[in-house]
Amino acid sequence: MSAEKPFDFKTTPGKLPKEVVPSDYSIRIVPDIDQRTFDGSETIQLDVRSAVRELVLNAADVGITAATVDDKRVPASAIKIDHKNELVRIELANALSAGSHNLSLRFSGKINEQGRGLFYMRYQEEGTGAKKIALGTQFEATDARRFFPCWDEPSFRARFQLTVIVPENWLAVSNMPIESETRIDAPSSGSSAATAIKEVRFKTTPPMASYLNVLVAGELEAIETEAGGTQIRVIATKGKAKWGRYALESTAQILQYYNDYFGVPYPLPKLDQIAIPGGFGGAMENWGGITYFETGLLFDPERSSASTKQRIYEVIAHETAHQWFGNLVTMAWWDNLWLNEGFASWMGTKCTAHFNPQWEVWLSKAVPRDPTRRTGISKELEMESDARSTTHPIQQTVSTEAEANSAFDDITYRKGQAFLLMLESFLGEETFRNGIRDYIAAHKYSNSTTADLWNALSEASGTPVSEIAAGWTEQPGFPIVKMKRSGENVELIQERFTVNFPNAPAFYWHIPLTYFLVGNGIGSRLMTATTYGLMGIPTDRALKLNAQRAGNYRVQYDRASWELLMAALPELSLADRVNLLGDVWAMVQANRLTLASYFGLVRKLPRRVELAERDQIVDVCDYIDRLLIGDLAREQFQTFGRTILRPSFDQLGWDAKPNEGPRLAILRASLIQELGELNDDEIVSACRDRFQKYVIDPSSLNPDLRAAVFWVVGHYADEATWDTLHELGLRTTSIEEKQNYYEALAAARNPQLISKTLQISLTDELPTSRALYLVGKVARSSDHPELAWQFAKANMQALLAKADAVGSDSYAPSLFRFFSDRSRAEELKVYAKTNLPVTSAKDVEKAVDEVEFRADFRKRVIAQIANGALK
Ligand SMILES: [Zn+2]
Repeated sequence: MSAEKPFDFKTTPGKLPKEVVPSDYSIRIVPDIDQRTFDGSETIQLDVRSAVRELVLNAADVGITAATVDDKRVPASAIKIDHKNELVRIELANALSAGSHNLSLRFSGKINEQGRGLFYMRYQEEGTGAKKIALGTQFEATDARRFFPCWDEPSFRARFQLTVIVPENWLAVSNMPIESETRIDAPSSGSSAATAIKEVRFKTTPPMASYLNVLVAGELEAIETEAGGTQIRVIATKGKAKWGRYALESTAQILQYYNDYFGVPYPLPKLDQIAIPGGFGGAMENWGGITYFETGLLFDPERSSASTKQRIYEVIAHETAHQWFGNLVTMAWWDNLWLNEGFASWMGTKCTAHFNPQWEVWLSKAVPRDPTRRTGISKELEMESDARSTTHPIQQTVSTEAEANSAFDDITYRKGQAFLLMLESFLGEETFRNGIRDYIAAHKYSNSTTADLWNALSEASGTPVSEIAAGWTEQPGFPIVKMKRSGENVELIQERFTVNFPNAPAFYWHIPLTYFLVGNGIGSRLMTATTYGLMGIPTDRALKLNAQRAGNYRVQYDRASWELLMAALPELSLADRVNLLGDVWAMVQANRLTLASYFGLVRKLPRRVELAERDQIVDVCDYIDRLLIGDLAREQFQTFGRTILRPSFDQLGWDAKPNEGPRLAILRASLIQELGELNDDEIVSACRDRFQKYVIDPSSLNPDLRAAVFWVVGHYADEATWDTLHELGLRTTSIEEKQNYYEALAAARNPQLISKTLQISLTDELPTSRALYLVGKVARSSDHPELAWQFAKANMQALLAKADAVGSDSYAPSLFRFFSDRSRAEELKVYAKTNLPVTSAKDVEKAVDEVEFRADFRKRVIAQIANGALK
């Protein structure tokens, strides 16, 4: 393993030469909304550290019309655009000496349909239904260069001062508060002469990375509050800000928690949480102006569900954590993206759990993701992908823009989070926080590497953290610990845990182990070799490893240990039981155990109905059911699945009991949807009845159940039902309701209806990111992934026009992940060769691995069912 070095600007990776460093940008943007273009000008103060003959900076899809250096004009022939590398080279007649200089540029660019650079969003206005347009930006990882030419690498921190021209009735929002607004009496140049416009000048930002700039403008409105001296606003399109109340209150709470945790108060005068009606599906942590797709921020108490509320809190907590971890201190280069994302995921979950213990977020599958959200079936998603041959270390080499975009994956977010959780529980909460405070204080307004974080934590704890961490961040994969008892001695052996990955290179880890005798307190040891012994363990006591599931490893017990654990099962905590379910299911996938072992454990669980536990079983049933599409065993499994899940639903019933808490509301919906999927006649017809009543009187159906009921109705829809759902979807201006209706349309199984749903993705009915992923939803829920792929193949260009930077490479491969037939893996390889850019290679490889795994697993599951695994 190569020990990484602390941050050093000069040796930080990147394409841009380090001799010239911008310190201040002053940027003016004039959009032409009708033409979907903009004109811009900027002046950049440069600190030239040693004499240079050329200036090299980034630009993409931006035309440069004029340049001056120190107010002297540069001839057009000296401006060289390198499209492939997204660079501009400005050749200088004379060497530019060390010292201060300035560069001024005039340029023009595009207002995009997809969420890259500056983009437009079409939406229906709340209340009036009028068709409107708004502008937004999305720059991470490498798209600020589509808005203005710049040194677009994260270690080139600079101050940015933005000015923009917009219609007078618009609200414009950026990182900093508005400094001045001036009405402009526009010399009418042709069309729409009557539109009054204004110039909005924002205050200058502190030194920050270019990808953190933001501009959102449109007919917006705001509600506001204040916390710890910071102005907090929730901003949405006109008519919708009233649904920002929950986000506003949550932000105030979260901000104060972080002010205390990090030991450095939030450094900007204001924090805006901005709900945008399109562009992308997730959220983006722009400093002082965080953007969210509407459903990630707006909560309508009358129409939104309990799970929406929880997701909003989690996403806000994640994005707000970035204001320190990511914005105040930024990873030096994209190879350390996990520092931003793993940390924000861990911190956001910790904060959410602190204020909302009733949600049990550490056990729930809804780990928030940004800037895009992909669908997954397992709450331990990162352990699933980390077990495969296509995994990579948390820290990975990144040399191109495409690699920077593909770094936003499960490993970066969730393995990063899982490792930090394990490390915190090993070092202790206080010690860990002290280390974080030292780290933030030492690196604020600057950049850092993973080594800087480990150094701070080592100093705070007196423990060599980098020795423990190296195996987890610099090696791919994770271990399984096997427990063997002989008398009072327990031998622990670690090996790499893999799925569908024969002959995987062997690694071992420094594992912060936790264990307990059921009924006793928790002990911890650092396992630094491949074997470890625990002595004096009474032979009649159950011993559990990985207490509270805080460790990022699997455990396999020998028979004697397992039987003792099973006898003690009712005494284990929910987290420990969920941990056993997750480990056994993973071992079924890895062919270390059979399906019968998993369902044997399920049958032994206590009868209490708890969300995290039952939801794990729901996910497994859902996975197996879809794996068996097209095989006779599917019906047999559905009958079995109903007998496993139905008693839990019958205990809950259709109606919420007083004070039952949000977890059971979420579980009830999850069980309805899955029992519907498993063809439970009673549930399906009850959903139909409730839907009919809902159409007449929406208040008759609890918002917590709507998505599930619509989904079941959509799954078995006839044409009239499909049309009703579609009509409802067209009519509503609530993005959350829209999403529920269109997901129901995507679930339809009838091939004619599937084709109608797919057509919608080519229209303007949905925001671009939602339209694009409708095809994936069909692939997943319709039982006909082949129809979704056939459609996508025929319309690929039109679909990709709607994709953002993170989405475009993975789009086609993602549609294959629902196939369980090896010939599809071959088909994807062939398709990729002639149709996909080389930058899709990783996504193709992952999808091929998934199809091959599913094909093998399917065979095994069918054989095991034939052998009585469900008896
Ligand atoms: Zn993030």
